[in-house]
Amino acid sequence: MSDCIFCKIVEGSLPSTKVYEDDDVLAFRDIQPAAPVHVLIIPKKHIATMNDVTDEDGALIAKIFAAARKIAADLGVAESGYRLVNNVNRDGGQVVYHLHVHLLAGRKLGALLA
Ligand code: C5P
Repeated sequence: MSDCIFCKIVEGSLPSTKVYEDDDVLAFRDIQPAAPVHVLIIPKKHIATMNDVTDEDGALIAKIFAAARKIAADLGVAESGYRLVNNVNRDGGQVVYHLHVHLLAGRKLGALLA
């Protein structure tokens, strides 16, 4: 998707601070961190929202969660704890329409439901 900022990050035409990469998944620091550790984990393939995930994406979604486990361990927050968040569409608070999971950690996070 030519107008997608996360696709541009995947292509390297927009900069990012990468913390993990494999053939299918990229993770980088959020530019407006909401916690001391705030990483976005994305599929390299453009998928707009969780609503657009298909059964064929099962292995890809598993890779995103595997990356989250590895990143949490590598950044030293696996034991203290972390939160994974996926915002979907307007009421879910989604701003960037390329599937991404937020990994938040490094402080005691507040109540989940707002
Ligand atoms: O889930 P949502 O779509 O609201 O989150 C998008 C996230 O992408 C925001 O936390 C924003 O700070 C981040 N972002 C980024 N780098 C960009 C554009 C947005 O880290 N170039």
